[in-house]
Amino acid sequence: MPSLDNVTNCPRCGKIFMKIRQPVCPSCVKEIDKEYEKCSQFLRKKENRGCTVYELSEKTGVNVEYIKQFIREGRLSIDNAPNLGYSCDSCGRLIRSGSHCTSCQSERNKLADSFHEEVKRKADRQESNHPGKLYRTGLDQ
Ligand SMILES: [Zn+2]
Ligand SMILES: [Zn+2]
Repeated sequence: MPSLDNVTNCPRCGKIFMKIRQPVCPSCVKEIDKEYEKCSQFLRKKENRGCTVYELSEKTGVNVEYIKQFIREGRLSIDNAPNLGYSCDSCGRLIRSGSHCTSCQSERNKLADSFHEEVKRKADRQESNHPGKLYRTGLDQ
């Protein structure tokens, strides 16, 4: 029996849907995938990689907020795009990693000294890549 707790309005298009894993409705998930594809394709060209999120948004027609989200999620790689980034959670300054800019982060660190629990709760979930570690070839026996 489906619970009504999971029925919600899609924040993107306003449609009612069952919230299971995605924060938006299934058709928006598809739309967002398409938008991500546009951004990623645009950045595949070397001459485009110097763009900012605003230029990227202008060229692809994708909302700046979504672009920032792609970057924040690590979905859109900015390793080769020096001017891309997303907003600091506190002050909105452009950052390229973590959730806060360095100055907000140090403010937070000061606060954190008095709130140790909070820190523990939200340790950075940055995935690190360990290429090649999973596969070994023919070394056994
Ligand atoms: Zn939707
Ligand atoms: Zn900040």
